[in-house]
Amino acid sequence: MPDTPPTSAFAPTPDPLTPERDITHAHFRAGDTVVVLKGVAGNELWGDAMRLVAPSWHTPTDENGWRLRNATGGARSYVTAHPRYLVHLARRCPDCLIYLRAMEDALLPRYAGRNELINCGWYTTTALGELVHIADVRGGR
Ligand SMILES: [Zn+2]
Repeated sequence: MPDTPPTSAFAPTPDPLTPERDITHAHFRAGDTVVVLKGVAGNELWGDAMRLVAPSWHTPTDENGWRLRNATGGARSYVTAHPRYLVHLARRCPDCLIYLRAMEDALLPRYAGRNELINCGWYTTTALGELVHIADVRGGR
């Protein structure tokens, strides 16, 4: 992950891949280090690195999720996320790598040559500290 660039931009961008991701709760374990992808910075994907703390119900999707700790999250140090939002960082994981590569193929060409940090606007955090992908906000499940 690159250092934070000097400027940032909010650029709502379609994300057809994350909502279609077929990944189960059991794919992850407490203690795993993961990233939630949020955009592009300096020709690389950019996101929040977090550590899985414990299983936790994800109310917006009504499915099993994970409680995560974001060491740089400040007031939002703990969030609950759906497994399909998460990508393994620390260990080589073929399932997560396929998704990561597909996201790179979809996004990096779109923002080639842009130096600033680009927030693609996929995630919001609810008042209850639950991370919700834009595709999960309406409809609910
Ligand atoms: Zn994985």
